[in-house]
Amino acid sequence: MDYIKKSLEQIRENNPHEEEFLQAVEEVFLSLGPVFEKHPEFEKANILQRMAEPERQIKFRVSWEDDNGNVQVNSGYRVQFNGAIGPYKGGLRFHPSVYIGIIKFLGFEQIFKNALTGLPIGGGKGGSNFNPKGKSENEVRRFCEAFMKELYRHIGPNVDVPAGDIGVGAREIGLLYGEYRRISGSFDAGVLTGKGLTYGGSLVRKEATGFGAIYFVEEMFRYNNIKLEGKTAVISGSGNVALYAAKKATEKGIRVIAMSDSDGYVVDESGIDVDLMINLKEVNRKRISEYAKERPSATYHEGWEGIWDTVCDIALPCATQNDIDIEKAKKIVAAGTKFVIEGANMPTTNEAMRYFLDNGIIVGPAKAVNAGGVSTSALEMAQNSMKYSWTFEEVDAKLKEIMVNIHTHSVEASEEYGYGYNLVAGANIAGFLKVAHAMIAQGIY
Ligand code: NDP
Repeated sequence: MDYIKKSLEQIRENNPHEEEFLQAVEEVFLSLGPVFEKHPEFEKANILQRMAEPERQIKFRVSWEDDNGNVQVNSGYRVQFNGAIGPYKGGLRFHPSVYIGIIKFLGFEQIFKNALTGLPIGGGKGGSNFNPKGKSENEVRRFCEAFMKELYRHIGPNVDVPAGDIGVGAREIGLLYGEYRRISGSFDAGVLTGKGLTYGGSLVRKEATGFGAIYFVEEMFRYNNIKLEGKTAVISGSGNVALYAAKKATEKGIRVIAMSDSDGYVVDESGIDVDLMINLKEVNRKRISEYAKERPSATYHEGWEGIWDTVCDIALPCATQNDIDIEKAKKIVAAGTKFVIEGANMPTTNEAMRYFLDNGIIVGPAKAVNAGGVSTSALEMAQNSMKYSWTFEEVDAKLKEIMVNIHTHSVEASEEYGYGYNLVAGANIAGFLKVAHAMIAQGIY
């Protein structure tokens, strides 16, 4: 434990003001005590400080012209965190809150998540503080083109393969890919994932993170001998992850009773009409308040934070980081919720996570739960390099198998290192071991 504490102190000193990154590092490293007791070679190799330092970190200027002819400037980022088990892989986030601490937290989490998938992908992440909200189609296009004008020189099918995240969906990936192709003059489909189906995308990629999350929940319930059908769920967010988690959950007989966006949330005790929600939020880019106008059984409430007042069996935070703090965690536990399933990345503060675990809540951690997205991205890369496409059913079956395997490996690691059925510790340990062994085998880098 001394080595872990000393490493954390050093990492805090080296990365001041990067709160989200330090939170993510602490969350992983503090679960590794029993691993370091069994494996002295990791301390000898100073593996923790090496893992917490990105292999490469790029910050660049993105200048673009708005519709009024004014030149706007944003910051662009790509952090190539760890390439020990494969090319860097991780999404791009366009959101005004983006700064290096957010990109590093996401890139760091990605290392272990990607290792858990069992596929050969390293960890990376990127993005910009650009806010796509309120921008015209032409402005979004000009921004994406300007962003790729710099990013292209740092990526490649065997180097670094970005995808989407908050604010980067099918539209943005299409524009980014078009610009990459224009600059490179080559159809390197494997350079980006989340592409459209007509130009190298994979079936199931759009649905993959949400579907994968529910496959993981299904496996958790099966393993614990608990019936899933008839349970109620609250899902925060109404973006890519939330919508497809809601769709698969509904298919499995779970009643989704509330969803949110960054303005407010809707409660619909009769069960969210997921097709209506997808039509409003994904197809027409409307606000969630519109849902309550079209659905008499639903009520709209201003402010996204209130969603956790809704009583449910399963809480599924699928919006953004630090959605659930200690106050909300106490409400969730007091309301009788027994399962917290992290669809978003780090949606629970470390204090709230400790509270959940101390109070017997079964937590599905983000690294495991939302790994279906990057897994299907890796399946997209595999199809691109074969120049061949699998059917929906084939990709879906592979996704399901990957999610079941992630659960199994997390349980095995948790039990082996004395944590019992603790998927949070198990996912951290299983992901860590794979990357640590690969790093040591490759010498000092
Ligand atoms: P989207 O941009 O599609 O949706 C995000 C949703 O969360 C929207 O409903 C948005 O509201 C809401 N939201 C975003 N920021 C805030 C905020 N600060 N406060 C309140 N609500 C907010 O993103 P994704 O669904 O792709 O991503 C959601 C989470 O899942 C993120 O943590 C992401 O890193 C993670 N993730 C995503 C994967 C993917 O494949 N897409 C893969 C693995 C993880 P509004 O509609 O108002 O913008």
